[in-house]
Amino acid sequence: MHSALKLIHHRFQQSQPGAAGLPGQPTHAPDTPTVTARPGTTPLVLDSPHSGTQYPADFGSACDLPTLRRAEDTHVEKIYAFAPAMGAAWIEAHFPRIYLDANRDTTELDTSMLDGAWTGPISTDPKVLSKVRLGKGLIWKFTDEGEPIYHRQLTVQEVRGRIDRCWRPYHAAVAQAIDAAHARHGYSIHLNCHSMPAVAGRFATEFPGLVHADFVVGDRDGTTADPALSALICDHLRACGYSVEYNHPYKGVELVRRYGNPAQHRHSIQVEINRKLYMDEQTLEQDPAGMARLQTDLKALVQRLLSTDPR
Ligand SMILES: [Zn+2]
Repeated sequence: MHSALKLIHHRFQQSQPGAAGLPGQPTHAPDTPTVTARPGTTPLVLDSPHSGTQYPADFGSACDLPTLRRAEDTHVEKIYAFAPAMGAAWIEAHFPRIYLDANRDTTELDTSMLDGAWTGPISTDPKVLSKVRLGKGLIWKFTDEGEPIYHRQLTVQEVRGRIDRCWRPYHAAVAQAIDAAHARHGYSIHLNCHSMPAVAGRFATEFPGLVHADFVVGDRDGTTADPALSALICDHLRACGYSVEYNHPYKGVELVRRYGNPAQHRHSIQVEINRKLYMDEQTLEQDPAGMARLQTDLKALVQRLLSTDPR
């Protein structure tokens, strides 16, 4: 079945027509989809929350586009472009991660960025708060280089609008795809797809300046997937010649935490790919040879997962 026939789109609805966009930069058309969801036919679900490149007209950031784009997991959706044809469900964000980070909970908000009182719940978890302090909550405050993203307060209404237009449809699509895969097959395997810079930025994480492995596979210390399944992924990638870290320095965040439940045969695993393997981090240009090699190896991984019943 060609699942592309059943594309589900959620669209931006400009709440503030004519609002200031990025200085001197074109923006996308107002009715561009914020999320693409392609239904699958297998137990596999893949999602890419950070590869979106459509910068909304109401962003109102103080940074220029090249600075903002360094926060993207650029080209991740192209790496996995083979997956829908193999029967995997596919969910992709078109909104940029630096506009709203779908790999955060809506409670991970720095309310000091707002011009008024936030009435929704706010996290008090110290681990979560440490990320919010780095400026890496639901709405980022600082770039990975420590540059402020806004020279203004955000209105409570515009943050609510971002959650409604971006976060809610994205999470609804991932939840629905996993539920559908689980209903069909009695188990689901969800790969949460990301990429990372070759070297962690100074204000990016709790490990500034860390030189990353080729891949980092995360299952929040075995809580979001059967560790045997994560080990299968690590072993496959190592056999392909890559260096692979497991749960370090990235264990996985909200998308695997929220949807992974191995006791119910719902497995969610975060896969981080080192950008040096497929692109120039300065120009954002793809490296065709690197891209082709990755796709061959990841296609074989998906094939292997399709023939693995983790129960
Ligand atoms: Zn990412």
